[in-house]
Amino acid sequence: MAGLLFGTGGTPHSAKTASTIDGIRRSAELGLGCMEIEFVQGVKMGEAGARLVAETAVREGVKLSAHAPYFINLNAHEPEKIRASQGRIIQTARIAAICGAESIVFHTAFYLGDPPEQAYNTVKKCLEEIMGQLKRENNRVWIRPEVVGKVSQFGTLEEILNLSTELERIAPCMDFAHWHARTGKFNSYQEFTSILLQIEERLGRAALDNIHIHVSGIAYSKKGEIKHLNLKESDFQYIELLQALKDYDVKGLVICESPNLEEDALLLQATCDTLLKTD
Ligand SMILES: [Zn+2]
Repeated sequence: MAGLLFGTGGTPHSAKTASTIDGIRRSAELGLGCMEIEFVQGVKMGEAGARLVAETAVREGVKLSAHAPYFINLNAHEPEKIRASQGRIIQTARIAAICGAESIVFHTAFYLGDPPEQAYNTVKKCLEEIMGQLKRENNRVWIRPEVVGKVSQFGTLEEILNLSTELERIAPCMDFAHWHARTGKFNSYQEFTSILLQIEERLGRAALDNIHIHVSGIAYSKKGEIKHLNLKESDFQYIELLQALKDYDVKGLVICESPNLEEDALLLQATCDTLLKTD
């Protein structure tokens, strides 16, 4: 499965410091192929810093993506909150592009009691404006709304696929742990392949050749996600997921968001290598 790269969501714990540059260096030392920069508390990196990050990533051979701030709600009921949310996504895309990242991911919105169809239309309109602005700036980063884990959050698989179908340069961030937590299902080989087939059917084979995946263990209730767990302390069937990804020759980045970060990223990578050898 040479086409899949594995890495951590944020700087690995064993890096010298928590900086992005040390994170890239440590990822390369560990033999990981990618890393997601976490701007989850805000985009504090400037353009000069982003250029250093880009140089380091190229030198170390680590591919990058970025996670936009958590404080985003494209279905907020106050116009100023919507504008601020749009600004955070655009700013993430600007800095991510300088870093050389190919994708940014984010949690799109909360329903806030609105009917899902109404929230969908609001989100779509906001995203259209964002995509227009990025196009004017010649920014070619993939904008990836994430499949999210709480039932109060906008971002079912269906909603994300619909946005990806309707808008240019929008593609899914397929978080398999979130989807399992949200539905209480989708935790078997059959179900994982059904998701891959659905993505291919809606978006074409190109979407499986350039996928962006989040994986971790997860604790959940009827309301969906409670918190992320390490894979071996959870019920998540990661071996079956990897088998499905291998059988469908899926290519792209697999970002591990388990609390132990690099331990599980390396576990996923090693498991994947074993599956390849037993072919
Ligand atoms: Zn996320």
